[in-house]
Amino acid sequence: MRFLLLFAFLFSANSFAGVYEQKDIWPLSKRIISVCIHNPREVNPINDAVVPTSFLISLAKDAVLNAYSHNTTIVEFTGFDECSNLSASDVVLIFNNKSFNGHANQYSDLTKKSQLTVTIGIGNKIESLTVEDTQRIESTLIHEFGHVAGLEHEHQYFIKDALKDPNCHLPTVSGQTVAQWLDATARFARSAGKNGALGLIGRVAPYYAAFKKDKKTIGSYDAYSIMNYCNNLNNSRAKLSNGDVETLRFMYRNH
Ligand SMILES: [Zn+2]
Repeated sequence: MRFLLLFAFLFSANSFAGVYEQKDIWPLSKRIISVCIHNPREVNPINDAVVPTSFLISLAKDAVLNAYSHNTTIVEFTGFDECSNLSASDVVLIFNNKSFNGHANQYSDLTKKSQLTVTIGIGNKIESLTVEDTQRIESTLIHEFGHVAGLEHEHQYFIKDALKDPNCHLPTVSGQTVAQWLDATARFARSAGKNGALGLIGRVAPYYAAFKKDKKTIGSYDAYSIMNYCNNLNNSRAKLSNGDVETLRFMYRNH
């Protein structure tokens, strides 16, 4: 019986995938993460922030609350009102109109050092977003809140699988090809340049080896993870993969 249970666990563990870091799992006392939306008209202007429309605010709230809930991902988000006090919420959500990129990081100027900011690019056409723009913003939101929940980039950990993925059309920054993007990424590796004679994987390997440090994985490569830049549906899919959900459930059920 013991053997059968172990086998069942291993089998189910292999059917999904995800990458996370232990230290990024929110503590047991904090499984409902509060979010406010920065409105630069009111308090502490932050560089590049734009005044969010009510459309954007409800878009963000709906996208994140539909993706993350107690019943699916265990960890969940609440709030999405305009920030009245920047340090009162766990996460400050900022919209900017510089690009369609997003990022999630610590905002060290705030008194509460553990607070996170999520910045979401909405392009430069806040008044005339297309359906595609909207889907892209939703996907970016779900991706960045994945980082907030503790998920890491799938393609960075499983780089060899990502490069072999026939669907891997990395939506790279400023229109680079996959090879150019990986090359640019590899420049950050200490030994990049020394390994010029090696293939692409050889050159990026030091960078990804560094990325893998302290990361934990569930299962194997997930081509459909919202955290995977190789997911060519990423810009329009706007949902967590089954693997993303299972990874979050594993993280928050077991810690
Ligand atoms: Zn990311």
